[in-house]
Amino acid sequence: MRKEFLPFTRPNVTAEDVEAVTEVLTSGWITNGPVNSEFESAVAEYTGAAHAVALSSATAAMHLVLKVLKIGPGDEVITPSMTWVSIANMVELAGAKCVFVDVDRDTLLVTPEAIKAAITPRTKLIVPVHFAGAALDLDGIYAAAGEIPVVEDAAHALGTFYKGRHIGGKRNAIYSFHAIKNITCGEGGMFVTGSKELADAVRRWKFHGIGMDAFDRQNRGRSPQAEVLSPGFKYNVTDICAALGLSQFRRIRQINSRRRELAMLYRKLLKDVPELAPLADPSGYDFVHAWHLFVVRVVSDRISRDAFMAKLKEKNIGTGLHFRSVHSQKYYRDTYRIAPGTLPNTDFNGERICSLPLFPDMSPDDVRDVVAAAKEVFAGK
Ligand SMILES: *Cc1c(COP(=O)(O)O)cnc(C)c1O
Repeated sequence: MRKEFLPFTRPNVTAEDVEAVTEVLTSGWITNGPVNSEFESAVAEYTGAAHAVALSSATAAMHLVLKVLKIGPGDEVITPSMTWVSIANMVELAGAKCVFVDVDRDTLLVTPEAIKAAITPRTKLIVPVHFAGAALDLDGIYAAAGEIPVVEDAAHALGTFYKGRHIGGKRNAIYSFHAIKNITCGEGGMFVTGSKELADAVRRWKFHGIGMDAFDRQNRGRSPQAEVLSPGFKYNVTDICAALGLSQFRRIRQINSRRRELAMLYRKLLKDVPELAPLADPSGYDFVHAWHLFVVRVVSDRISRDAFMAKLKEKNIGTGLHFRSVHSQKYYRDTYRIAPGTLPNTDFNGERICSLPLFPDMSPDDVRDVVAAAKEVFAGK
């Protein structure tokens, strides 16, 4: 058995990261300022987006998008239930309703067909998820959406490419830099869009409704004349956090290729473990996976997913659960009352999925340890 606990994830923080953060801390300007702008430009350039707005979280970005699009009572937002709760929570708090669509059983991606079938005259927005860092079928999804706005939930997908281009690109996408994501600010997010109008509106909503948030070099701060154009929130991210994000961002290619290497080793070794079924790659289009998560389904007749996770923990190996489906959680059970069998693939996976440890500082031997421990669990040891 492993001597040291192997967590399911751990942020990759280097001496350069510490130096970048220290530089901001000692610069005399620690909240949102020049490093925010640099971080925004770097992500916009990499993803091919015309505009990028740094925010305190991806959840905050979703909140603001709903505000800007004036989505509220009577409106519907199509999104999967097999995802993190933040999108659905924001939709609920806006007074609108989620229309939960099922996902593909083996990729956990929303399909164009499912979206098409869920569209009604009330549909105001579609939020599909690039699950685990695999690319959605974007051509199919945008064709299904027609004129309805789409915001890609790219929380897992910095470094995900679809047909040779970064996902999101000229369209709308939301990235998260929460502590477990491929790169992190501790907490942080970014909204990217091809629309200047949308970007400007999000930027205004994010900082008190004042028409600007950026550090003005001439003023050495914000212009004292800046005024409220309409009430807004306070969803800015500090330069302390942006410096960490930007420093990490500079390693995104290395970070993701390390993740890919480890994921490929899992795939190879897990061929000998029939009780664990990894997710499949989507087929029919060319894409690059960002490998945010390595998700398996526990398909043993004898050992449940929960028991598997508990047994691995006894063997000093951590795992994660991404995700407990939204519609199965108390508030959503009570308010949506979705009939059993409505989301069969979501429910099938909801009972079986488990995320194995995957982070850049892991070694191939760590992967071997996880697979060996899993084999022991299924052998009853
Ligand atoms: C992490 C995550 C979010 C929320 O990101 P925050 O920055 O924590 O608000 C949204 N969607 C998915 C799929 C996520 O995994």
